[in-house]
Amino acid sequence: MSDDDVLTFDESARELRGKKGVVLGIANRQSIAYGCAAAFRFLGAELALSYLNDRARPFVEPIADELDAAIFMPVDVSKDGELEAIFETAAETWGGIDFALHSIAFAPREDLHGRLVDSSAAGFAEAMDISCHSFVRMARCAEPLMGKGGTLFAMSYYGAEKVVSHYNLMGPVKAALECCVRYLAHELGPKGIRVHAISPGPIRTRAASGINEFEELLSVAETRAPRHQLVSIKDVGVATAALATQAANLITGNTIYIDGGYHIMG
Ligand code: NAD
Repeated sequence: MSDDDVLTFDESARELRGKKGVVLGIANRQSIAYGCAAAFRFLGAELALSYLNDRARPFVEPIADELDAAIFMPVDVSKDGELEAIFETAAETWGGIDFALHSIAFAPREDLHGRLVDSSAAGFAEAMDISCHSFVRMARCAEPLMGKGGTLFAMSYYGAEKVVSHYNLMGPVKAALECCVRYLAHELGPKGIRVHAISPGPIRTRAASGINEFEELLSVAETRAPRHQLVSIKDVGVATAALATQAANLITGNTIYIDGGYHIMG
């Protein structure tokens, strides 16, 4: 910079007009992925949305209509080819994409509710495959479609970093997810692809209802977080969408807490 250089900023620092993205993991209007999809759309992006299966479709279809989703397809990451198919359709429809968000988690009930020490090999492997490795597979699908760079998002939780009672085997699974985010950020950074783990505070959703004593977790979060406020899917959505803009051009590989500051407390 010389004394004569005046800084100018591009609209792409605050909007996603003309950008295209894939959002996986909307189950209903409580879903974190819905908050994110609505915020991406608010900033002008065009969306490809998924639903898990025929049973889930009636809950997600009105959301796809509301957000004018250009693509609406079933994606069960445990079924061969479904994850790949939505990215193939995105390639055919748009030629490329600018962001992709993974907001998917699953663990068999018995394993989720038991101690980690008692978890079954099969249950642990299934939780890992659906909640973590499918993010790696998503990155693999997205990479060739992000010729101009892009942003990948995964949803994590504080239980990845510190022990949270009743989070059980999901703790190590989310820790692996956050580590994958760092390695993917390293591998894909040279191509202009940024990778983020978003770590929201506890929110009442369908997935959260599977965690024992979840109401207690909410109450502790509200009491202890410096902002003394529970996080909403809207809070998570707008912050996540901002990270997909050029404003976040050189931010990558982090776990971004959207938790009212809860994680700084000792
Ligand atoms: P949710 O129930 O709305 O979303 C979970 C999604 O995972 C659902 O859409 C479900 O269909 C999908 N899913 C499960 N198995 C799948 C499979 N085999 N293939 C494809 N999709 C599958 O709940 P949520 O709380 O919005 O969860 C979204 C993400 O946010 C999860 O990764 C969760 O761990 C994470 N998270 C949630 C909280 C919270 O307190 N709710 C906090 C931090 C992180």
